[in-house]
Amino acid sequence: MSQSDQQFLAGASQEALQLFCNEAGVPPFRARQIADWLYNKLIVEPEKMLNLPASLRLALKDFFRAPASRVAEKVTANDGTAKLRLELFDGESIETVLIPTPERMTFCLSTQVGCPVGCRFCASGAHGLTRNLYTGEILEEFLLSSIEAGQRPDNLVFMGIGEGLLNFAEFSRALEILSSPDYFAFAPRRITVSSSGYVPGIRKLTQMKKEYNLAISLHAVDDEMRAQLIPDPLRYPIAEILAAADDYCDTVGRQYTLEYTMISGVNDSLDTAKKLAAIAMAHHAKINLIPLNQAEGDFRRPERRQIEEFERTIAAAGARVTRRVERGFKRGAACGQLRSENLMKGKRDE
Ligand code: SF4
Repeated sequence: MSQSDQQFLAGASQEALQLFCNEAGVPPFRARQIADWLYNKLIVEPEKMLNLPASLRLALKDFFRAPASRVAEKVTANDGTAKLRLELFDGESIETVLIPTPERMTFCLSTQVGCPVGCRFCASGAHGLTRNLYTGEILEEFLLSSIEAGQRPDNLVFMGIGEGLLNFAEFSRALEILSSPDYFAFAPRRITVSSSGYVPGIRKLTQMKKEYNLAISLHAVDDEMRAQLIPDPLRYPIAEILAAADDYCDTVGRQYTLEYTMISGVNDSLDTAKKLAAIAMAHHAKINLIPLNQAEGDFRRPERRQIEEFERTIAAAGARVTRRVERGFKRGAACGQLRSENLMKGKRDE
């Protein structure tokens, strides 16, 4: 079997594991043992599945991609937040972030290698899309992050590299496997799907009828302002995005969040704050402010006073607003920056 024909062990069904056991000539209970390692103990490396015979562990590695990714780099901030650069089977890279707080552990996961949306303030979009992630690769992010963290996470947020809804087939399958009681049994309410406002994808997510949290990266209060930040081909009108998100909220029964990256002189005036509050209240949405990481191009982060006044203005208008807690990374703080640094290093070494 060629490597590209092999399926990933992460996400393998009971039937696939039974088939493997048949071919390996071992009793069916071995399939249940393997599923227990994967879906209860979160172990994807056959060599760690200690109650299997050594020959079966080797056969598993032959039959499946197990795992196809590896942790190539880890950067830890002074508050314990850790960023992993995962190297994929074809040498490409993605990132995951492990975010501990006293109350909970959150993983931020990627859905694509690079991103086709190309938001002008984002390191992940700067190099365009290389390829979609397979379902198995998305699940390996979850599994490898769990091993690094030494625990199962409490929350999953798909806010890493990529626009997951543009990789709907693989991403939605990963969501199903994560939340299915037959696999990882992760409560949909503890999973957040972030979108740059890709309307056809939001509509498809609505059809899944699962209680995932939806986060819309709005970043602007009108289409003209948004056009400065997100290039044409994949940018939808704000009215269409909000209509799709409202339908999601009505169908699924979950309030959604408007993510708002604050950029100095572009979208951080107090008049804009009032308009943003009005949009959020009209659509029963929450606002999450994300002051820009000083990472890309000509865009600058607002001064601290401006960020605080912007937040106060929204709250005074009566909208629900939070601000993303910032992590003390010395390097690679922005989403996609480790991958970006690695790409540039590769180019320098050529
Ligand atoms: S902000 Fe999100 S959607 Fe925009 S380019 Fe970056 S990863 Fe893609």
